[in-house]
Amino acid sequence: MNWIDIEKTSFMPVFERVPVTLIKGRGMYMRDEKGKRYLDFVAGIAVVSLGHCHPVLIKAINRQSRLLMHTSNLFYSTPQLKLANLLTQNSELQRVFFANSGAEAVEGAVKLARRWGHLKRNGAYEVISAHNSFHGRTLATIAATGQAKFQQPYMPLPDGFTNVAYDNIEEIKNATSEKTCAVLLEAVQGEGGVNVPQPNYLKEVKEWCEQNNLLLLMDEVQTGVGRCGSLFAYQQSGIVPDVVMLAKGLAGGVPIGAILTSEKASVFAKGEHGSTFGGNPLACAAGYAVLQYIIKHDLASHAQEMGTRLVDGLIKLQQEFPLISDVRGKGLLVGLQFEKDCAKEVMLACLDMGLLVNNLKPNMLRLIPPLIVQEADINKALGILRRALIKVFA
Ligand SMILES: *Cc1c(COP(=O)(O)O)cnc(C)c1O
Repeated sequence: MNWIDIEKTSFMPVFERVPVTLIKGRGMYMRDEKGKRYLDFVAGIAVVSLGHCHPVLIKAINRQSRLLMHTSNLFYSTPQLKLANLLTQNSELQRVFFANSGAEAVEGAVKLARRWGHLKRNGAYEVISAHNSFHGRTLATIAATGQAKFQQPYMPLPDGFTNVAYDNIEEIKNATSEKTCAVLLEAVQGEGGVNVPQPNYLKEVKEWCEQNNLLLLMDEVQTGVGRCGSLFAYQQSGIVPDVVMLAKGLAGGVPIGAILTSEKASVFAKGEHGSTFGGNPLACAAGYAVLQYIIKHDLASHAQEMGTRLVDGLIKLQQEFPLISDVRGKGLLVGLQFEKDCAKEVMLACLDMGLLVNNLKPNMLRLIPPLIVQEADINKALGILRRALIKVFA
């Protein structure tokens, strides 16, 4: 079968894909249909937290699939309540709602913020979010996503969103009006370029939100569940957001999304929000197994340690290759920026040498390996990257 040709004729041509068909994986490695092996520093876009086909996750899915796969939210369901309980016990938040993806979690959080505005702030409905953010692909979430390329093809967008510069508290203050109900931010901007804010930024935003009766919605779809070196990235800023959205890494590869809120921000009344699949037993059993494993083995601290090693190694490469203009990140969310638009070439050279990296922007690579990555994997990835850089820059 020529899968690439089938994609060309049968699939909507919306994805820019790497010319490889992956068919199986184990731990840090994947294999394509020809049997070639790749060290995976993409993890399905920061999703496969425990690596590929982790026995704990296989066991949980297997067991649940034999018990019960779907109930709907017309009934109580144990995997859902176990996962909700684990999330509230290990965060500073008190209430959980489950969705099926990141965008859906953010969309739900925006609806929650509008309920908040209606009930507690004289009908305010506007959400302030940041330029270069990424919040998903639904209409409301692209309106929140402050990047023209996602918005332009779909004008007009839903009303009630304002985009301001990231990491600039003054812009949020200036954009706040009586219409504002919430501020929506990533703890580190992932898709927008691995942008890490100043240490005090989120604290200042939280204070501003408190003073003005606004909700702070933290989109931790990418940064959450250990990725940035703490179970949730907000925990490193000394704040507790009103609302936290999770998705990507939460169930290690099974689709899931979650909205966590404080008691105060939990303003949905019966019937005001819902989902057929959200909180599905299979997805929640997977989420429970993954989250429990991450907590038990403190993979957040491990991610911090491994992320530091990775960044140190990349800084060494930067000394050797001055065309690397910046290395930045938090935990295992790491960006490598070049002075010119050569990231695709470097990515393809890595691919050829058996390493998967993400070509985030024309001049940027993103390294987001599974949280189980070990020092030897990092050294191997750095070695391949070095050879790829020699090949491209020579
Ligand atoms: C990936 C991502 C989303 C969207 O998640 P989907 O599951 O693709 O809908 C939202 N917010 C952030 C920060 C993300 O990284």
